[in-house]
Amino acid sequence: MFNLLFILCIFFIGSSFASFFTVTIWRRLTSAPSSKFSYCNHCYTQLSFLDMIPVLSFLCLKGRCRYCCRSLPTETLFGELLTGYWSVFIYLFFNSSVASLSIITIGYILIITSIFDLIQKEIPDIFWGISFIFTLHPFPTLTQWNTAFILIILMFFILYYIPGYFEGADFKALIILCLILPFPKWALLNLIASGLGLLYQLFYFLFKKHFILELPFIPFITVAFMIIISCYN
Ligand SMILES: [Zn+2]
Repeated sequence: MFNLLFILCIFFIGSSFASFFTVTIWRRLTSAPSSKFSYCNHCYTQLSFLDMIPVLSFLCLKGRCRYCCRSLPTETLFGELLTGYWSVFIYLFFNSSVASLSIITIGYILIITSIFDLIQKEIPDIFWGISFIFTLHPFPTLTQWNTAFILIILMFFILYYIPGYFEGADFKALIILCLILPFPKWALLNLIASGLGLLYQLFYFLFKKHFILELPFIPFITVAFMIIISCYN
């Protein structure tokens, strides 16, 4: 019982960080007014403690602001659920070796970059730089370097011949991941991420009767990464 309560605490502490990051990123990207209080993105009403409980507030309010009834940002719920899950998973299954530290850090960085991708498709390169440093232990194998090299060539090819086709963030995330995952797991990650993206588009089409033109892909890569790591640990 005590252990279950402790795990719930870890989930809510993890998801509270996600709430904080989402608000910070949202204010930074949208030039929203800065305030030490949390407020609704639409009506700017200051939120009470009950409106800010990670995950639970969103579910109790059915995804709508208590004051103006407009939709709450779904990226907040996405970030809270993933960070909460990742924090609990780390507590239960990871040890403190450097290899684990790389996986843990890259997991959190993927969640942050997903939130950036969902709010506005511009992800600061500093996140990929930090991730790259963490990929260097244990040192990637030759196959992993080769895959990374092929991806980099492909990225430059697409950027040169089809300018504006993509921002490059998806490729950068995949390059980082191919350096920390063995090739079969990396290939499986691509398959799962693409499958999830396709499923999301299908469900979106069923409800909204149109497709999303620029579907953010980093969130699907992140979910696929967590599925792979969870299944193999
Ligand atoms: Zn509101």
